[in-house]
Amino acid sequence: MPTGSETGYDPSLGRKFVFVTGGVMSGLGKGITAASIGRLLANAGFDVTAVKIDPYLNVDAGTMNPFQHGEVYVLKDGGEVDLDLGNYERFLDTDMTSDHNVTTGKVYREVIEKERAGDYLGKTVQIIPHITDDIKRRVREAAVGSDVCIVEVGGTVGDIEGMPYLEALRQFAHEEDEADILFTHVTLIPYSKNGEQKTKPTQHSVKELRSIGLQPDVIVGRCEDPLEEKTREKIALFCDVPTDAVFSNPDVADIYRVPLVVEDEGLDGYVMESLGLAGEALPADSRDTTWRETVARETDGEKTIALVGKYGMEDAYISVHEALKHAGIATRVDVDRQWVHSEDLADGHNGELANVDGVVVPGGFGSRGTEGKIEAIRYCRENDVPFLGLCLGFQMAVVEFARNVLGLDGAHSAELDADTPHPVIDLLPEQKDLDDMGGTMRLGAHSTDIEPGTLAHDLYGKPSCTERHRHRYEVNLEYIDDLEAAGMVFSGVSGNRMEILELPDHPYFVGTQFHPEFRSRPTRASPPFVGLLEAVLSQQEETPGVEERPAVGGGD
Ligand code: GLN
Repeated sequence: MPTGSETGYDPSLGRKFVFVTGGVMSGLGKGITAASIGRLLANAGFDVTAVKIDPYLNVDAGTMNPFQHGEVYVLKDGGEVDLDLGNYERFLDTDMTSDHNVTTGKVYREVIEKERAGDYLGKTVQIIPHITDDIKRRVREAAVGSDVCIVEVGGTVGDIEGMPYLEALRQFAHEEDEADILFTHVTLIPYSKNGEQKTKPTQHSVKELRSIGLQPDVIVGRCEDPLEEKTREKIALFCDVPTDAVFSNPDVADIYRVPLVVEDEGLDGYVMESLGLAGEALPADSRDTTWRETVARETDGEKTIALVGKYGMEDAYISVHEALKHAGIATRVDVDRQWVHSEDLADGHNGELANVDGVVVPGGFGSRGTEGKIEAIRYCRENDVPFLGLCLGFQMAVVEFARNVLGLDGAHSAELDADTPHPVIDLLPEQKDLDDMGGTMRLGAHSTDIEPGTLAHDLYGKPSCTERHRHRYEVNLEYIDDLEAAGMVFSGVSGNRMEILELPDHPYFVGTQFHPEFRSRPTRASPPFVGLLEAVLSQQEETPGVEERPAVGGGD
């Protein structure tokens, strides 16, 4: 058996690992369960990080279509990753890096590059041990500096793509001290027609795990309701775990309640006990209760915010959704997020916007639906409706203003109309020669200088902010003087790139070239989103009012 020095692991670091696998079917909320365990360990005083394993062959999520696969989440280092990383960042309130998203593409690319460079000294390069070694190395490296690392294997046990990962975790458990590893299997408990909780699918998925040498230590049953005692006993008997290692994770209306449910079930206590952490945990009465208080916060009423995009594509904008929720928590507003299909708005059919309290036009690529977005922005500008434009939404606000205020007919983004007579959004001159992909994508965290005396300065409360980016195009420098002369204020800039725009004569008309939604947390809402809801509130005659400025994040 390899020793610590051979595996590159220093046992004195005392790291612990919670491996999370999924049974029966995907989409069970395995990531939320895993992130909830992490949240509770963090509340108990531990440094927690996470690794999400995505067994697909893509190197990263950068090229994946958000309408098929959900949002491409952007990390501070510019990593374009699976949206589950967003949940980990939100639940753990931590910043992760691309190293925390392991994909088959990354692993194979590394191994093949090493093979080409002759690093394997003529050996036959194989899934075991070369691919599995690379997987283990990545997990260990991502865990450095944390007390506990949660490792979630995407997909479902039995998937061909997941096999090398499960094998790597099996080896990993052998190489480490057994007491430092906890295997948690999250599985589905369906109901039969006569209302009985059924354990057979779980039994089968655990059998599958055991056939590859993995025995779960903990089983979490996802079910509409809490598991009945006899269900837990049956799972324990057939899956060879103690009854008190079987936990329920029933459906809840709000994912942020899952840590509370899991805590009430005692899952965190069981995890800490099993990993030998119980003695080091903060006593129950001195743990961080911010999460519980945040989730329990009462609201003073509902406001409707329209998201202008494609119907039923919530996963494509999940961080925008969550950021609105966080801003709602901060301002005590129950935010009803309503989809307005951008293609329906194109011909002036803006009736759908008549009853909303505010509008968000989120980011995107490609021209589909852009005329509708521009129409929604015009409606907000002319009717004093609070508006927040994000990335493409910011760019379309510039286009709308150029067309309808400056009178520049046909003004557009060069990305969406290569022949526009007025490319108010374009590549910067220095980007143009870079490559034939239309300039290099500007990714990750960059700092923005904020002009004193502006709304943006009021929102962020400081002269700069650092937010995440994912775009190629910029405001064309040649049009800035004209735009500003007509009343558009660029209140945030980063070198020669315009980052924040606002219209001072409007109750709230703000656009950001960056994506503030990626830094929004339930406990630290993002300033531009908070500003949107504050504007909505102050527009109502009998506003319940926000007594004091809520805690906001999104800073540095
Ligand atoms: N497509 C635009 C650009 O590349 C906006 C990108 C976005 O909204 N994320 O600049």
